[in-house]
Amino acid sequence: MEQSPKRYFQNPWLRGSQETSEFNQEMWMGKISELINLITSRLPPSAADGDGGLYVGTGGIGYMFYHISQSALYTAEKDQLIQKGLDYIKAALLYTHQNVPLRQTEECAFLLGPAGIYAVAAALYHAAGSVAEAQHFCQLYKSLSSVVLPVDFLSCGGDELLVGRAGYLCGALWLQSVFGSPIVPVPDMHKVCQSIVASGRNYAKRTKSLSPLMFAYYDTEYLGAAHGLSGILQMLMSVPGFLQSDPSAERDVRASVDYLLSVQSVDGNFPVATDEIRMKSRRPEDELVHWCHGAPGTLYLMAKAYLLWQEERYLQSCYKCADLVWEKGLLRKGPGICHGVAGNGYVFLILYRLTQNEMYLRARSPDSPFSLYEGLAGTICFLNDVIQPSKAAFPFMDIFWIQH
Ligand SMILES: [Zn+2]
Repeated sequence: MEQSPKRYFQNPWLRGSQETSEFNQEMWMGKISELINLITSRLPPSAADGDGGLYVGTGGIGYMFYHISQSALYTAEKDQLIQKGLDYIKAALLYTHQNVPLRQTEECAFLLGPAGIYAVAAALYHAAGSVAEAQHFCQLYKSLSSVVLPVDFLSCGGDELLVGRAGYLCGALWLQSVFGSPIVPVPDMHKVCQSIVASGRNYAKRTKSLSPLMFAYYDTEYLGAAHGLSGILQMLMSVPGFLQSDPSAERDVRASVDYLLSVQSVDGNFPVATDEIRMKSRRPEDELVHWCHGAPGTLYLMAKAYLLWQEERYLQSCYKCADLVWEKGLLRKGPGICHGVAGNGYVFLILYRLTQNEMYLRARSPDSPFSLYEGLAGTICFLNDVIQPSKAAFPFMDIFWIQH
């Protein structure tokens, strides 16, 4: 593929041609199997690779196997996939036991630490029919809800998604969707939300922020999904009943979403952090179009805002995100979901679920960027979801999921 001297590959379907080749499900399922074999041969389950939690450790591979095992495409291989997932999550648990965090506050990290491993272990044991083990890990997860309550529970900033309260809520919501009923009781989730709101108000007041809720992680006011405002707000908006229970919190959450909307650029992207708004420090060629930083991650917040409040401007924001990602989203960094092609591909699957507009499935004709790189677990989840777009969700974050 022609390479531009940029962070991304030129999209060959950018202008004019709307033609899409026939979608070949069998071929893509074959690719998924190839990638799974690549992972199991190159990265067998080992506690030595447990570092980095779900994010980059063996625990994330365990999640991938869980995700595929729940796919209607793989019912024949279901038991085998669950067993494989258990092999990986057991390795991640062994790593966790060997490296017990010094402080319990570090145990609460969802995407980067032990809490995420407990959640995926609970789901895999549940899928395997091992009731006692599943309960054990649910209990461990639930027991951490009081640890994250003190507003300053992490000195680096305890609200974001990878190690903070938003991540803890993300895991709690995911567990609720897996088990069909709350694992962390809803009133306890609301308390965690209250801590986030208090933390955001304190910080915003102290720093005279333009947003009524603002947060810092290692002294940077990130705005994106991974460490920043958009991921945190998304979780506050996803916890069942929280906004309805507290009108002043809803007012501040909504004003904060509108603040983010006001900093979306004309071409659809969002700044990485507030200092870039003031200083305009990033050159166009250094612009980040990632799930972690920028439009591909903030899209989920705007889609959630549209689902909640039904205002057209949130939907327009989503369209702008999608157009930007269509142009600049074929990232050179690789196939992953955080700052890679698969993460950006999810943008179109979410837009498809949001609008039912099949135009967004034109992205179902992916080209060589996938096959140019070694497979990653997130890519496999993405490919599985490409085949079944009506159920597509970024891992752990189904914005369409609602409590019944
Ligand atoms: Zn990233």
